[in-house]
Amino acid sequence: MSYVIEGKTGPWEIVVGLEVHAQVISQSKLFSGASTKFGGDPNTQVSLVDAAFPGMLPVINKECVAQAIRTGLGLNAQINLFSRFDRKNYFYADLPQGYQISQFEHPIIGKGSIEIELQSGETRQIGITRLHLEQDAGKLLHDQDPTKSFVDLNRASVALMEIVSEPDIREPEEAGAYLRKLRQILRYLGTCDGNMEEGSMRADVNVSVRKAGEPFRTRCEIKNVNSIRFVMQAIEVEATRQIEIWENGGEVDQETRLFDPGRGETRTMRSKEDAHDYRYFPDPDLLPLVVEQAWVDELKSKLPELPDAKRARFQKDYGIPSYDAGVLVAEQAVADFYETVAKRRDGKLAASWVIGDLFAALNRTSNTIETSPVSAASLGKMLDLIADGTINGKIAKEVFEDMVETGDSPDAIVERKGLRQVTDTGVIDAAIAAILEKHADKVAEYRGGKDKLFGFFVGQVMKETKGKANPALVNSALKAQLDG
Ligand code: ADP
Ligand code: MG
Repeated sequence: MSYVIEGKTGPWEIVVGLEVHAQVISQSKLFSGASTKFGGDPNTQVSLVDAAFPGMLPVINKECVAQAIRTGLGLNAQINLFSRFDRKNYFYADLPQGYQISQFEHPIIGKGSIEIELQSGETRQIGITRLHLEQDAGKLLHDQDPTKSFVDLNRASVALMEIVSEPDIREPEEAGAYLRKLRQILRYLGTCDGNMEEGSMRADVNVSVRKAGEPFRTRCEIKNVNSIRFVMQAIEVEATRQIEIWENGGEVDQETRLFDPGRGETRTMRSKEDAHDYRYFPDPDLLPLVVEQAWVDELKSKLPELPDAKRARFQKDYGIPSYDAGVLVAEQAVADFYETVAKRRDGKLAASWVIGDLFAALNRTSNTIETSPVSAASLGKMLDLIADGTINGKIAKEVFEDMVETGDSPDAIVERKGLRQVTDTGVIDAAIAAILEKHADKVAEYRGGKDKLFGFFVGQVMKETKGKANPALVNSALKAQLDG
């Protein structure tokens, strides 16, 4: 069943396309050597080019171009060896040049796609229309003085990648999955930190509605939504608003709107009538950007393994289910942690410890994988202790909790607490004898046919040995004594 919203006149389908602005990770800006470091004092990272002093000329930053190409490769997209920078003209106080240098007709990256996975386990391809490079603007500060506004140009000319999707998205969940996947790919590539709260990734959300089978209707664009949850909410409320207009005999105007999460509504920012005429033209200060295929190939050969490939490999190499592999590759640091634990060990057991016990411990202690009190090497060592029979699975839980608390190595904990598994059959036999003597009545019942009591005896013997007996030995010895 595809996702629809029920209106008075029946079901409506949602159509969504996303434009994502992703701040490029680079030391210096797109056209100047000024630093991109976040959080500097206002206007301390501004070159004469960024401030648009007369006669200053932009010079393209090769690393920003490399980052755009890496991203294009990660999105399985066409890399355009020829691209061009255009001026997008508009006046605003945070834009000293009076125009933004962007790419309009000839973007550096063309068509690509992203595979998303939905909660149902179903996968879908969402088309990428293009990715282009452009400069960011400065930032206006309105809260420093009651009568004046100030401008901070530290961000002016920092490189952005605008990543435009096809109108392939059909429901809020798909938009969320698309943004999460895009962010994951950018982070793996190291081309954008994907931090929406800090504004290094922001989304413009284009929404329209239609009846099934119809051509697209007029869309509205909701600007600068800064969290995945808000994107999903904005789609829902905007689609509902448009359906109401159509059903009441009205017409949706093509507009730019803003989402107000507090009130759960979108509001007009500007209508098509006051849409900008940007008067794009090729920037005469910059030559067309021509890159060589050999360089693209070199960048490609050095790309890290991306999430989809890693997930498939984890399933194959470690024999874990697709879902678990997906959880483990969600963040690269988790994937690396898991792989250190799983290598040359039982991959399934490793996955269950990382996803289960470790994640629970991180949550409980407000840690992340980076600050984990248990290192991957240490967790791996603990699995070795299970594998070589030093401890059993139940004692391992106790050892693990101790590792979380003290950060000690698992062998140190086993020695300190005397948790070594008992495999001495003499000790186990003695424990069994004591239990059978203590529960002579139950032994009689068991022998009289009450098979279920077997588990009770196992439990008692384990208790008698403080959980340290080897469960397999207990089982076979008990069988021998009870049935023999
Ligand atoms: P513009 O340059 O005016 O923003 P584009 O053609 O580049 O227009 O489209 C911008 C975004 O709008 C793209 O992500 C595209 O997928 C999306 N889009 C286009 N048509 C529709 C539609 N009818 N409904 C929803 N989204 C749409
Ligand atoms: Mg747009």
